[in-house]
Amino acid sequence: MTQQGSVFGAMLREFEGAARILNLEPGLWRMLTHAKRQIIVSCPVQMDNGEIEVFTGYRVQYNVTLGPAKGGIRYHPGVTLDEVTALAAWMTWKCAVAQLPFGGGKGGVICDPTNMSRRELEALTRRYTAEIIDAIGPDKDVPAPDVNTNEQIMAWFSDTYSMHVGHTSTAVVTGKPVEMGGSLGRREATGRGVMITARESAKHLGFELTGSRVAVQGFGNVGSVAAELLALQGAKIVGVTDWKGGVQNPTGLDIPKLIAHVAEHKTVLGFAGGDALGAADVFKLDAEILIPAALENQITEDNAGDIKAKLIVEGANGPTTPDAHKLLHERGVFVVPDILANAGGVTVSYFEWVQDRHGYFWTEKEVNERLEAKMVEAFDVVLKTAQKYKVDMRAAAYIVAIGRVATVTRMRGMYA
Ligand code: GLU
Repeated sequence: MTQQGSVFGAMLREFEGAARILNLEPGLWRMLTHAKRQIIVSCPVQMDNGEIEVFTGYRVQYNVTLGPAKGGIRYHPGVTLDEVTALAAWMTWKCAVAQLPFGGGKGGVICDPTNMSRRELEALTRRYTAEIIDAIGPDKDVPAPDVNTNEQIMAWFSDTYSMHVGHTSTAVVTGKPVEMGGSLGRREATGRGVMITARESAKHLGFELTGSRVAVQGFGNVGSVAAELLALQGAKIVGVTDWKGGVQNPTGLDIPKLIAHVAEHKTVLGFAGGDALGAADVFKLDAEILIPAALENQITEDNAGDIKAKLIVEGANGPTTPDAHKLLHERGVFVVPDILANAGGVTVSYFEWVQDRHGYFWTEKEVNERLEAKMVEAFDVVLKTAQKYKVDMRAAAYIVAIGRVATVTRMRGMYA
């Protein structure tokens, strides 16, 4: 699966660079480049017009050496098994970098949620949950939100699982509404982690966040919160794009107002506090910091040369292709890789799972303080590893992650 355009192929290239430096044994290399389990299900749903549609869903459990599989579920027309497998592998490395007792998993359903009613989305979510029910559970595999899924979808997921097992199970899924066992701070956690790693990177590179210019691609749960928190740190958000277009303002956009605009219009397009910005032009902006927070394969060989930022913090999973990353590295751009930069979300998912299992809930302050400590520690370990091996932050994050999973695999030994 190393063909051009394969997301899993991109993951493999990143893995191989680090595995070579680690001198990973061939057997472990083979194990860690294969998904443990790939589930494909068909989900029939009666649509509002009375017709029955069949949606294809996937759940991939890439590796469960360190604990239950963990990772989100995305609803998107472009979902493929190749993509979900790569995302499940990235969750494996992300949980290992953040030192969480989880393996990696990911789910996806091929659908266009922007064209579905609330009732259709509920029916799809319940059927998808029922189709994968034997494979999931608090000790087996714990899903969460991802692209186009949210607290409501997690609520339906948790309810469907609970009805099947005959008791209320809160720890089967994270990113739930707070009222039903969700964690305070979870919704903001990925964006908060992006802000923390941007701040730590700026400190390392010797510049201040205050007054720095930031460009953001994607204004969903990750991009909007990262922008808001960076603006609170004194940074100027000079441009934001989403799936429909963008908006720019060299003196800094008013992010709370932009968030209110998006709540009403579902896009940043048409925001009165700035000028229009073409979707592809976000990478060309004069900015010190670039935050890709949309989908994979956005920064490519074709546009990497346009990027003026000296710091890229990957809010999305897999936004930079390996060839683009090589070009950026050669130019001295400091890239905080996805498996470190966006680990804040799954870190607070871990806190949510812990709280659910204890039936004892923390304050938002406690959640945020623990997130801060975890992110700073992970950043420091990856930075020290980069310095030790004289590699970039992405290779260093893989070295840390593969090292941790490999150590436990060796300790546990081979079954049968
Ligand atoms: N979907 C998020 C990610 O890609 C969060 C996963 C989780 O919380 O399990 O990291």
